Amino acid sequence: MLNQSYKSLPNEKGYYGPYGGALVPPILEQALQEVAQAFEEIKKDKKFQAEYGRLLRDYAGRPSPLYLAKNISADLGGAQIYFKREDLNHTGAHKINHCLGEALLAKRLGKKKIMAETGAGQHGVALATAAAVVGLECEIYMGTIDIAKQSDNVTKMKLLGAKVVPVNEGGSSLKEAVDSAFAVYMQEYQDTFFAIGSVVGPHPYPAMVAYFQSVISRELRQQMSEKSKCLPDYLIACVGGGSNAIGLFYDFLDDKAVQLIGVEPSGQGLDSGRHAATLTLGKPGNIHGMKTYLLQNEDASPSAVHSIASGLDYPGIGPFHSFLKDEKRVKYVSADDQEAVKAFVYTSKREGIIPALESSHALAYAYKLAPTLDKEEIIVVNLSGRGDKDIDYVIQEFPEIAFGDILK
Ligand SMILES: *Cc1c(COP(=O)(O)O)cnc(C)c1O
Repeated sequence: MLNQSYKSLPNEKGYYGPYGGALVPPILEQALQEVAQAFEEIKKDKKFQAEYGRLLRDYAGRPSPLYLAKNISADLGGAQIYFKREDLNHTGAHKINHCLGEALLAKRLGKKKIMAETGAGQHGVALATAAAVVGLECEIYMGTIDIAKQSDNVTKMKLLGAKVVPVNEGGSSLKEAVDSAFAVYMQEYQDTFFAIGSVVGPHPYPAMVAYFQSVISRELRQQMSEKSKCLPDYLIACVGGGSNAIGLFYDFLDDKAVQLIGVEPSGQGLDSGRHAATLTLGKPGNIHGMKTYLLQNEDASPSAVHSIASGLDYPGIGPFHSFLKDEKRVKYVSADDQEAVKAFVYTSKREGIIPALESSHALAYAYKLAPTLDKEEIIVVNLSGRGDKDIDYVIQEFPEIAFGDILK
C-alpha cells in the first residue's frame, strides 16, 4: 500500500506508479504543458473557482441529491442502498461537471475553440452545452456509424451551436474519431483546447478531469454526515474511462474503512470476446497518450470492444484506476449486458427512476451485494446518468425483460 495520500497523485510527470504519463509527439508537449500550468493555477484562483461554483450550482443544478432507495433496499433485505443522483444534472449525467471546468479553462487560456471526439454523443452534447454557456466555438468529431445511430444527439449538438465533423475511416466509430480529432488538434493547438471526456489521455487530463469530478465525493461526504453521521461502507460506480467512478471515490480514497468498487462491462460474457472489461482481462499497454491497462490484440493494438452501454465501450481505462487496481485499493468487478438491462428495468419499476445503461452496471452489482450485508450497512451507487437515451434500445432488444414479470 502507498504510504502517502492517494490524493497526492499523480507525480509532476503525470504518473500514477507506472501508469499515465504524456506519451505524445514532441509538437504537443508544449500545448500539454500550457494546459498543465493553467490547471495548477486555477486550483488556487478564487475568481475561477467562484465562476465554476456558480455554474455547477445555478446551471448544472448541484449539489445532486443523495437518495435512499427505500423500496429496493426493503425488497433486497440487506444494506441500505443510496443513489447519488448525477442523473439529475443538467444534460442528464456527470459529464457536465468536467465539461464546464474544461470550457472555463479554455476560456481562461484565451482559446477561441474547444474540440473533442464523441462516441455515442454524450460527451459531445455536454461539451457543446458548456461551450454555449461559456462562449466558445465547439467542434465535435464523430464516426459516421455513430452519427447514423445517434441522430438525436447530433441534432442536439447542432442546435447548441457545435459543428459535428463526420469521420469516415476504419470502423467509423469512437477510436477513429479520437485519432482524427487528435490529428486536427496537432495543427490547431494554438487557438484550440482539446476537451477529453473522461479521466484518460495524456497528463494533465486524467488528473484534471478527476479534479472536476471530485465534487461528487465532497458533496457525498457532507450529505452522509447530515443524514447518518457516518462514512458509507461501499461506494459503487460503473467504469468506462473512469471519470464518474473517480468522482465518487476521490474524497474517500484515504478512508480505508470505505470499500470502493468499480464495475466494468462484461458485455456478452468475459469469454465471449465481446466485452470491455479492461481491468479484468487487459494488460498494461499504451493508448491515447497514456500507459494503462488495455484490452489489446497480439500486436498490442487496442482490441474491438463491446457493451450495450456505449459510454462504457472503451478498450483502455484511466491510469489512476490501473494503479488503484494494482494497489488493491479499489476492487474491480463486472456486470454483463443482461444483468445491466435487468437492473435498468427493475430500478425503473421499483423506484420510478430510469437509469442510464452505464449506471445500470453499477446498480446490478449493488443489487447482488446488498442482500449479503447487514441492514446497518450503507451502499452508495453513483447514478451517473439518466436512461432516456436508452429506452428505445432496451424495448426493442430486450422486450421480454422490459415487459416481463421482473418483480417475480
Ligand atoms: C460517459 C458515461 C459513463 C462512462 O464514463 P466514465 O468516464 O467511466 O464515467 C458512465 N455513465 C454515463 C451516464 C455516461 O454518460
